[in-house]
Amino acid sequence: MHRVSLIPGDGIGPEVTDAARQVLEASGADLTFEIALIGQEAEKTSGAQMPPAVFESFARTKLLLKGPTYTPFGGSFRVKVERPGPDGKVQQGSYSSLAIALRKELGLYVNVRPVKSYPNVRSRYADVDLVIFRENSEDLYVGNERMIDADTAEGIKRITRGATERVAKFAYDYMKQVGRKKMTIGHKSNVMKMTDGLWLRTAEEVGKGFPDIATEARVIDALCMELVIKPETFDGLLLQNLYGDIVSDLGAGLVGGLGVAPGANIGPDCAMFEAVHGSAPDIAGKDLANPLAMILSALMLLRYLRESDAADRIDRALEEVLRERKHVTRDLGGDAGTRRMTAAVVEKLQGMKNQA
Ligand code: NAD
Repeated sequence: MHRVSLIPGDGIGPEVTDAARQVLEASGADLTFEIALIGQEAEKTSGAQMPPAVFESFARTKLLLKGPTYTPFGGSFRVKVERPGPDGKVQQGSYSSLAIALRKELGLYVNVRPVKSYPNVRSRYADVDLVIFRENSEDLYVGNERMIDADTAEGIKRITRGATERVAKFAYDYMKQVGRKKMTIGHKSNVMKMTDGLWLRTAEEVGKGFPDIATEARVIDALCMELVIKPETFDGLLLQNLYGDIVSDLGAGLVGGLGVAPGANIGPDCAMFEAVHGSAPDIAGKDLANPLAMILSALMLLRYLRESDAADRIDRALEEVLRERKHVTRDLGGDAGTRRMTAAVVEKLQGMKNQA
């Protein structure tokens, strides 16, 4: 049996994580869940956005299914983390968002974001199938910013050989395992000669150890244009933290929007699965959220656990529900709510169980 820490999150988070949990339970996979609160709900009950209980749960499970969490735009919002370190002393951290805090604190160094066309999901393209590997630990996201004076702000971009090698090695290994054939490394080394230069050289060096996978490099702006013109020609994209963040949303747009974009954050011996979308406060609590991205993230969790049969069943159930188009949410062209669409997927899974 696998234990999973489940973070409901803010806004639409509780609705879509509940959907993912129902689908996982109906898939036949042997899982048990521990609820761990962070964000607005945690603050109400424990006074902290990120209470130590979430780390205690994660230390037991090493697996996290996370709903989106709310971060105020602008202002001086910081997430404070206080927890016992490996030496027993209290470790403190301060981060610009809950998602970043978890990725850093748990050492989740790569974000894997598949971008795939699904039947009957409205989009301009029909045959996109690529995977984005986003470096999760450094770049402009190290949060080292300062005001020089009232009218001047600056931020540090940090790229290291070690973090680049680690993410590149993971990405090429993953591509090899799933039989993908071409890696495109995004960069802007013509302008950022040191940071992006080091990134490109290091990633290409790792690529040489994988002769079965072709490697090409693209300047990040040209890559964005080509992705919009001919997305079907891309297979794997290896990107720094900020480029990866931006291109992930571009990728979601290629296949029908944020409602269909899942993600996994992977560390050395642990992983966290979450949709690309945020907490969508505009539709929270209205039974309008598309649960697909969160269900697809849960499906990635099963693949990570090598629960292939349960994952394949969910894949088939989703394909059928999307193909029939009777019970899909508004953003997918239907009129079903989150609950009705989830129930349709669960019914398909129960049907498969009865046939077996
Ligand atoms: P958002 O992704 O929450 O919403 C953008 C738009 O997409 C909204 O119109 C929303 O209604 C729609 N949308 C998003 N998910 C949907 C779904 N499943 N079904 C149907 N429609 C959906 O982005 P935002 O408005 O920029 O951010 C809102 C909050 O979420 C912010 O506080 C932001 O910091 C946070 N956020 C969190 C994460 C995370 O926890 N990993 C990621 C992104 C944003």
